[in-house]
Formats: sequence, structure tokens, C-alpha cells
Amino acid sequence: MTTYAMPTCSGHPTELDAVTPEPEVLRQAGDPARCERRMLTIHAHPDDEASKGGGSAARYAAAGVGVVLVCCTGGEAGSILNPALDLPDVKERLPQVRRQELIEATAYLGYQRVWMLGYQDSNMPASNEPGTFAAAPLDETVRALVRLIRRERPHVVVTYPANQRGYRHPDHLRVHDASMPAYKAARDPAFHPELGEPWAPQKLYYILWSRASLVARHKAFVQLGLPSPFNPARWKRRRSMDHFLTTKVFVGDHWEQTRNALRAHATQVDPNSRHWFGLPPEVDRTAYPYDDYILARSAVRTKLPEDDLFAGVNGDRA
Ligand SMILES: [Zn+2]
Repeated sequence: MTTYAMPTCSGHPTELDAVTPEPEVLRQAGDPARCERRMLTIHAHPDDEASKGGGSAARYAAAGVGVVLVCCTGGEAGSILNPALDLPDVKERLPQVRRQELIEATAYLGYQRVWMLGYQDSNMPASNEPGTFAAAPLDETVRALVRLIRRERPHVVVTYPANQRGYRHPDHLRVHDASMPAYKAARDPAFHPELGEPWAPQKLYYILWSRASLVARHKAFVQLGLPSPFNPARWKRRRSMDHFLTTKVFVGDHWEQTRNALRAHATQVDPNSRHWFGLPPEVDRTAYPYDDYILARSAVRTKLPEDDLFAGVNGDRA
């Protein structure tokens, strides 16, 4: 069995038994373990961390929170969505290119540590090829996540909701399905003690694009007389999940970082996309400067609705 070295809070490397998949630190800046408050976000592909809750990562990193990303797949199956980069050479190197994009994007967002969980993108619909995330045994992924939760000891964990209306990518569904048991099992001393000291995160959130955010952006386009990339007729057919929202985090002070992070995913985000960049910056910045969450699990008292993922959370030295 091979082992690999990881830096610890004390600065000494520690050896971990290799598991399947073998997680890898893609990028590190500072040491989240030294922070009194820590959060860990679990995402499916490179670019999800920028498009879903990127502003929150930037906000909490700026506030001294240790912010850690677990990116479950390398996004190898992604199409090139930026025509300027749809080139044979880029296609050939897509896995490396997307790693580089993730390194750049997470630097903008202030992530201190980025883990690649080690799975391959499952494609859509799922290819079910061995090694792909959606085809992996669920309990294997749960163990891999438990080990990282115990390693990083986050107070707050962010994942995706079960009900992902409108975007049912198998990898996104799998992020939810694996995060839920991992969140619970990480604290259980009887669950695979070889995966590390038990750790009990205090809150679990689902990140989602609220209907309110889409409506606000749509209205901003209409008010300016610009063609809107949104189709309000679709909203009528799909039930909004906004009534489940518990937590609205102001991220308006980190708009630039979020924009830069999106642009860093250059193969995935077309700089001419109306959806991402169609509003003039001064309007875009204020159209809907929030990330929206559902508090799914909490071990601490908190008053809903909240405006802070750390409301009620006890940090290490609190
Ligand atoms: Zn994704």
C-alpha cells in the first residue's frame, strides 16, 4: 500500500494510507487547520465552486475562516463551452487545462486548500465507466469524504440539495448522496476508525441558485432593455425551492473575485455569455449580491432566517 505526505497544522507531514480514490491536494495557500473557524465545500466539477457559492468562499476566507474545497471529479467529460478555446490542442489536454483553471479560480476565491477527490467526470447522461464518479460504489465515496472531513475538521460543510431541479447531472446528484452519510459518519468513532479521529461538523448547508436570484437578474436585463438569457416561462413549469431557503449570505463585496474565478474557468465559461456577463458590471454587482442556502443539519442553536453560515457556530477557541 502506498502512502503520501500531507502537511498538518503543526507543519509536520503525516502519512495516510492510500485509499480508492486517492485524494490529492491540488493547491494550498496557508493552512486552514490554523484557523479557529473552518468550512469545507463539496463540489462535483471544476467551475462549480465558482458558480455556486464562490462569493461565500471569498467572504469567509477574507474574514479569516479556513476555507477548503473538495472537488470530486476532474471535469474531464466537460465540453468546451468557450468557442475561442474549442481547439484540438486544448481538447487533448482538457484534464490538465481544467486543473490549471481550478488552481487559478480557487486562488481568486481565497480557498486555502483544494482537494481533488480523484474521480473521473461521469458525463451526462452517466457513462457508467469504471473510475467515473457516478459509477463508483457509494460507500467508497462516503469513506473518502469522511477521511477528508476528519482531516480538515470543518465547522460548516456545504453540499448540494437532493432536489436539483433543472440540472440533474449524475455527479451533482452523487455529491449530495455521498455528502449526507459522510457528514453523519465523520463524528461516529465506530465508523472506520482508520480514517482518522472523529470530527463533528456543526452545520450542513445546501447551496442553490434561488428563484429570487434568477428573477432579479432577469429583471435587471429587462429594465436595461437588454435581451435576457432567462426564460420566465420555464419558471412557471418548475416549482421554486425558495420557500426552503434559510440563509442569505451577502457577497456583494466579493463580486470581482467571483467574476474573476468564473473567467478563470476559461474552457467552461464563455466570456461573451449573456448569462454570466450580459449585465454591465455596475448593475451585475448589485442585481443580486447574495448566495442562498438551505440549512439542512444543525447541531447548534440558530435563529432562522440567517445571514451568516457561522451563526451559532462555536469555533475552536470560542
Ligand atoms: Zn458541475
